[in-house]
Formats: sequence, structure tokens, C-alpha cells
Amino acid sequence: MLGQMMTKQLTISSLITHAETYHSKAEIYSVNTGGGVEETSWGQVGRNARALGDALTKLGLEPQARCGTIAWNNRRHLEIYFGVSGAGFVCHTINPRLFPEQLVYILNHAEDKVLFIDATFVPLVAAIRDKLEHLEHVVLMEGRDEAAAEKLPGLKFYDELVATGDPEFEWPDLEENTASSLCYTSGTTGNPKGVLYSHRSTVLHSFAINAADGIGISATEVVLPVVPMFHVNAWGAPYACAMAGARMVLPGPGLDGQSLVKLIDGYDVSLALGVPTIWLGLLAEAKKSGTKLESLRRTVVGGSACPPSMIAAFRERYGVDTIHAWGMTEMSPVGTVNKPLAKHSKLPVDQQHALRENQGRPVWGVELEILDDDGKPLPHDGKAQGDLVTRGHWILDSYFHATREETLTDGWFDTGDVATMDPDGYVTIKDRSKDIIKSGGEWISSVELENIAIAHPKLSDAAVIGAQHEKWDERPVLVAVKAEGEDPTEEEVLHIFEGKIASWQVPDRVVFTDVLPRNATGKVLKRNLREEYGKILIG
Ligand code: ADP
Repeated sequence: MLGQMMTKQLTISSLITHAETYHSKAEIYSVNTGGGVEETSWGQVGRNARALGDALTKLGLEPQARCGTIAWNNRRHLEIYFGVSGAGFVCHTINPRLFPEQLVYILNHAEDKVLFIDATFVPLVAAIRDKLEHLEHVVLMEGRDEAAAEKLPGLKFYDELVATGDPEFEWPDLEENTASSLCYTSGTTGNPKGVLYSHRSTVLHSFAINAADGIGISATEVVLPVVPMFHVNAWGAPYACAMAGARMVLPGPGLDGQSLVKLIDGYDVSLALGVPTIWLGLLAEAKKSGTKLESLRRTVVGGSACPPSMIAAFRERYGVDTIHAWGMTEMSPVGTVNKPLAKHSKLPVDQQHALRENQGRPVWGVELEILDDDGKPLPHDGKAQGDLVTRGHWILDSYFHATREETLTDGWFDTGDVATMDPDGYVTIKDRSKDIIKSGGEWISSVELENIAIAHPKLSDAAVIGAQHEKWDERPVLVAVKAEGEDPTEEEVLHIFEGKIASWQVPDRVVFTDVLPRNATGKVLKRNLREEYGKILIG
């Protein structure tokens, strides 16, 4: 026999075992749903996860049984992530901001047997409990609470459930392709679709996140995932942090600027992850309070395009490096991360800064291609834009209860995004393909216009849609929200585009609104805006 290496399955239990063994004292700070901060550690999270895994096994659940969560980012949710998957069940995180009918659809489609809920969501779940066809156990993520039990007959309590399990429980040996967790896309069109991750895909994704040119989380770090644990597994941060043994701050329900500043300053957060809207709130509050955000070194921004003005604000005011990343539920979610290359260090500083604005390069494990309308690859010249498709170790093969044929084309997953790619692999997302504005045969990127508009000091939010036009087919219309205490005219707003884009790309109109409609994951609902303003340039 030739010598060879050991074969070990890539399992989620190996992540928590590592954190528990080699980083047992590393602190986890958790904001409780009822307020107050609790301190625990990877060692304790590991023991509780084992006890939970044992308790669920004793409930007689079948392997791969789906266990739902409707919960904030807190330490019990973290224990559920590892306890459920580690014991061979599927951790199904659910977005509480969905409509009740969507929640019912998702819980029934996934056939959830157990549902863990935070106290906030007792009324929500009580209202739909009768419609949940497969559900056997609802578990409140607290100690005993009689008032909640009255609203949900048969309610179990997390702390009591964990107490029935053995903290020394041995994780079962699972095959690495076993399903570990499940997320549904927010489904702006049609019913939500399930994306089922495996132990293997999750571990490989964590490795990629932790690579130096990924996000590169290390044991020296204090990580604040503001991105919810119900949104693509908080971008994989809990797994990556366990792999690295990083300390964590779990922010609970309060994601406003004031709460975040308090957590960052109070617990020396060095790395924080979240969508752009969250950082708008944080930056506004930081300015108001005068904090220097001294401990914060890096923010990871994704989920929607990160406006360049935000990257500059972090850098110039706080010396924080913003890492722009792109991905989606179907990609676990990380696809690209913006980090510099060696050759960039010789460029003038403003050029280096400009290069950090796009969505970045594919990390190892993700392949990307841009295709024209006939499905032919386009040149990677930073100019040609086409449909962005992907394949790789943590990319969806088929939706939950669907076939590969329904999901992929020639082995590639179509992201639904339109992008350019340069010779180094840097990707710029121009738009969702359904949102791109087609004006007289030319394409206008709504993202590009929004990035410019959002920097306007008299605006607090902005979105651009294609409105119907008699001559040009479609023309851009800017839907803007005025900043507090400001009252800009349409002309003043349009002024900001001058010299930044070609004049034919400048929006034809500005309409003001009080608030932009957003879906459950915080993305602007352009379809609603098109319904409302899509015809204002005709008739
Ligand atoms: P959903 O697709 O259900 O709305 P996802 O979180 O999976 O929720 O969203 C993925 C989409 O979000 C991507 O296809 C892309 O359009 C958008 N997106 C994510 N990150 C970025 C980014 N950095 N820049 C621009 N768009 C982004």
C-alpha cells in the first residue's frame, strides 16, 4: 500500500469541537431579547450544543428532521446552530419579517418538526400555530414562562430542554454530504425557495471566509455579526468564528445605530458584518455621539451594493477598512470579496481606494462567468456586461424539493445579476437583471445611479427604477427620501450626477417619498416602485 492521509468527514460538529477544545474561554457576549448582556464562552456554547443535540435525539426525531428557528442573534441561537446540525438534524432559520402566509408556507414546505422561537415571536407563532401541519414541538428560547405557555399550549422551554440532555454527548459520525441547514430565499417573485446546505459545503465555505484574502477572521478578533442569523446563516459568520475561535458579540433585537455603537465600544468589536442600511444608521449615530469607534478595524458590507461614500466615511472618519463582498442565499452566501492585489500597492492612493469599491474577486471554491443573451461567455475586460453565472463547492445544485434540471443551466447557476468582470476577476454588479434600465438599446445601471445619489447630503435614501418612455423604451427615475430637516428641489438633487456619469444616464425625474418599500431581507422592492412610478413619464 502507498501511504496516504486520514479521511475525516467535514462536519459542523468538528467546528464546535475545535472551538470548545482550543478556545473554550473565548468570550461570547449575547444581548438578551428582554435586554441586558449575558457573557458565555465557546466552551459553554459547545456543552450546551451537545446537551441540546442529545435532548433532540431523545425526543425521537428522525435523522434530517427540520428544526426551525425564528430568533434574533443570541447565544441560544448559536447553540441551536451547532446542536441541531451536529446531532444530524437540519437547522432551518426563518426570517420573522415575512408575511404570516409566507411563514406558514415555508414551515409546511420544509416540514419543520420543531420550532425554536424568541419571546418576541410568541404572538406571531400563536397566530399561525394551527396551520403548521408537521410541527410537533415549539420551544421558547428562555427559561419557564407561564404567560407564554398560555398563548401556546404545549410550549417547551429551551433551558429545561437543554437540562434533559448530556453536555458530554458524543456527536454522531455523519457523512459530510448530509444536509445541515436550510434557508429560504425571500421570494420577491413567486413562493420562497429552499436552499439546503450540507456539512461539507458549510465547512469549505468557512475555510474560504477565513482565508487571508477572504474575510480572514482570526482568534485575535471580536466579531459582531449584525447580519441576522436568519439571513443566510449570518453569512456563515458563526461557523467561521468557531473555526477561528474568534470572540463574538451577538446583538439581539436592537440593530439601531445607538445600540450598535454601544456594543462596538463596550466590547472592543474589531470586525462587524452587515448590509449597507445598517451602517447608514451606525455612521449617523457615531457622528452624533462623537465616538471614535476605536476598536473597529474592519466592516464587511454586502447584501446590496455598498455605496462608495460609505467606504470613504468609514476610512476617513474612523480608519476602518470596508470589505465589500457579494453573494446570495444560493451561494452560502459568499461569492466574491474585495481585497487588493500586490500590484495595487504601487498605485496612487486614490486609485487604490477606487479599486476597493467593486464587489471583489471570486474566493477559491467559486467559479464565475458572464454570459451574453445566447449563453456565450463574454470577455473579462471590465466593460462587457452580461448574466453572472456560478458553480462551486458551496453553490446550490437544486432547490429543496426541486430537480437539478429546474435549477441549473449547463451545470451553472444563474445568479440573476448582471455584471462586468475585469482581467483580474474583479466583479462589478450592475443590477439585478430584472432591474436594469434599458434606454434606447443602451443599458443603465440603477446601482451606479443609486451609489451617486445616496451620497447627496440632503438625501437619506435613494432608489432608481426604469420608467416607461415613449421614445427610449425606459428612462431612469430616481425615487428619493429627503434627509431629516432638508428640503432639496429636484434640480438640486440631479446636480449631484453632473460630471460623474454621461448626461444620457442622468435620471429624467426625481420623485420624493417618505420611505422606500423593502422586503424581509432589507432589499428595496423595485417592483412596487415600478408599479407606483413606472408610468410617470408617459401620458
Ligand atoms: P434574495 O435574493 O432572496 O433577495 P439574497 O440575500 O440571497 O436574498 O440576495 C442576493 C442578491 O443580493 C444578489 O443576487 C445581488 O443582487 C444582491 N447583492 C448581494 N450583495 C451585493 C453587493 N455587494 N452588491 C450588489 N448587490 C448585491
